[in-house]
Amino acid sequence: SLTAEDARSWIDRFTADVDDRFADLTDLDRRAGDGDYGTNLRSALRRASANLEAGPTDSPEAVFTAVANGFLNTGGTSGPLFGMWFREFAKAFATATTAEAVATGATNAAAVVQRLGKAEVGHKTMVDAMVPAAEALTAAVEEGTDLPGALRSAATAAHEGAESTEELLARRGRASYVGEHARGVIDPGALTVAWFFDAAVSVTA
Ligand code: ADP
Ligand code: MG
Ligand code: MG
Repeated sequence: SLTAEDARSWIDRFTADVDDRFADLTDLDRRAGDGDYGTNLRSALRRASANLEAGPTDSPEAVFTAVANGFLNTGGTSGPLFGMWFREFAKAFATATTAEAVATGATNAAAVVQRLGKAEVGHKTMVDAMVPAAEALTAAVEEGTDLPGALRSAATAAHEGAESTEELLARRGRASYVGEHARGVIDPGALTVAWFFDAAVSVTA
């Protein structure tokens, strides 16, 4: 199961990956939005890191609560949505940190984002990676796959979901204002979700 150290490494790895790829995220949101997504994500992760430094970080629940609080009440559409997403993982980890708990967290988290953003799969948003990742985790757990294996399935599904957004017209968010101009541009929110599960794979492998 997931330890507090695993959870911390997961977030630290994700934060480092986002920093490294900041320019790509900015470019995607510039092509199909207003160009602030990289900045919004990075500043939320900086607040999350400050919260983690301030502690407590002695459980996966505490780690994910610190991250959620870094995202909530931040600028951009993505901040509150990711904040609510991370909060559902924290809630699930309050009772267990098994692969099943990760699947439960991912399922509830995807549902809360769908509800708040009124977004379905295919609307070219972060939901396009969140939902398949949650479904892959649930399927893996039902097959009795261990946590590292379940996370690998989630990462693969999230990447497929993110890549599927490239050819779509956006139905939600600022990308929906630019019509055909958004076609050919991967949704940066969905790509971020895929990286998040990649980070999990790299720390649990
Ligand atoms: P803003 O459009 O306010 O500048 P950001 O740039 O912070 O927002 O975030 C853009 C990302 O938010 C998109 O890439 C997409 O993944 C996600 N997003 C936008 N609108 C929605 C929505 N209604 N539901 C779910 N996700 C959304
Ligand atoms: Mg934006
Ligand atoms: Mg904006």
